[in-house]
Amino acid sequence: MNGSIPTAISCLAWGMLATGCSELSRSAHAQAGKVSSMGQSSGERPSWDEYFMEIARVAAKRSTCLRRQVGAVAVRNRQILATGYNGAPAGLAHCSEVGCVRATLGIPSGERHELCRGLHAEQNLIIQAAVHGVAMSDATVYCTFQPCVVCSKMLINAKVARVVFAGEYPDRLAYEMLQEAGVELSRIQQ
Ligand SMILES: [Zn+2]
Ligand SMILES: [Zn+2]
Repeated sequence: MNGSIPTAISCLAWGMLATGCSELSRSAHAQAGKVSSMGQSSGERPSWDEYFMEIARVAAKRSTCLRRQVGAVAVRNRQILATGYNGAPAGLAHCSEVGCVRATLGIPSGERHELCRGLHAEQNLIIQAAVHGVAMSDATVYCTFQPCVVCSKMLINAKVARVVFAGEYPDRLAYEMLQEAGVELSRIQQ
């Protein structure tokens, strides 16, 4: 998966651990506390974080979004609680079938989510857990991209303890609110 997503806000401006960030930014972040960065080992047995992120990437392949395929997996004690990917509600036409206003209008990444028929991967993840009566408290949620602010607020109230993401996403408020809520934030380098 290509992690170099163009962003309107530079990673330095809002302190993200992004591919291409300067070492200065990285060390500043490490000192700031909660955000950690993990390298992906090549050819070796995957770590648990790498293992569940890979499953999130497989979930993303089911996505019907025209803009970006995203997957999410909720895990507690190495047990998968739920999975999700972005797309229209079950049984309804997908953006891939009827088009997406955001794509048609060329709306930038991270803006005007409400114009899309789709639910975000993290939203579908939380809904799947709710449908099946599975609590997500203290779970770790693996997201193929950093969650947006709407999903972040939902994850906070679902009492998720940790969010691990891979690709960056231009949403500074999401990042700040997760930090404010004490949700541990980790990034797996792609
Ligand atoms: Zn759409
Ligand atoms: Zn979202």
